[in-house]
Amino acid sequence: MRKKIIAGNWKMNKTVEEAIELANGVKRELADCTEVDVVLCPPFTAIKSVSDIVSETQIAVGSQNMSSEDEGAYTGEICHSMLKELFVRYVILGHSERREYYKETDEWINKKVIKALEKNLRPILCVGETLEDRESGSTEKVVEVQVREGLKNVAADAYTELVIAYEPVWAIGTGKVATAEQAQEVHAFIRATVKDMVGEEAANAVRIQYGGSMKPGNAPELLAQPDIDGGLIGGAALDAESFAGIVKAG
Ligand code: 13P
Repeated sequence: MRKKIIAGNWKMNKTVEEAIELANGVKRELADCTEVDVVLCPPFTAIKSVSDIVSETQIAVGSQNMSSEDEGAYTGEICHSMLKELFVRYVILGHSERREYYKETDEWINKKVIKALEKNLRPILCVGETLEDRESGSTEKVVEVQVREGLKNVAADAYTELVIAYEPVWAIGTGKVATAEQAQEVHAFIRATVKDMVGEEAANAVRIQYGGSMKPGNAPELLAQPDIDGGLIGGAALDAESFAGIVKAG
């Protein structure tokens, strides 16, 4: 039985002061939550403060990106050792916003995934089709390439550590949530792709989150699907009560 994992992607929101307030709110609601893995992914500037607040709770901290390099002349980048120093456990990689606005490619994302695993950080690899892809019937083709390329050369035993987040781009921040049936269909397809890549054991172990306008109201139905193992939450994670509501649905 896979343990559910709910992560809040705060994106480029919250100053340090605001982040402290939100993290304290989440801590009040969820400090002792053991049935579900809970992860907060603040902007880099607030990671230290959030880590301090949730230390000695069941809540983990993640970052929203990570460099594929170890250190050096990479202006504006943040590497694994800087994150680990702040007790970061998870790294969101290949989010559609980074693919779209910062032109991250599957090959580059794969380098980050490999680096994260090598350094004992848990990647949350994001995949998902655009509206145009869906309407032209290419959802599976697009998602399959992102999964195969993003997880290229990842050993079967690493699938217990990594997480895949299926986030249909057309459902992100739009209020248009995928139906539980639409999401389940793609999640099952992703699991079948993993099975084909590295075998049944890894496919059964890997956790696949849904992301895209997930809210306390629609979470129970989504999380009840057999292949949906959690959520990657944007907008609703900016409010402690809404985020806790989703976790409690898990
Ligand atoms: P929303 O929950 O705001 O749609 O964002 C989803 C997302 O992109 C999480 O990474």
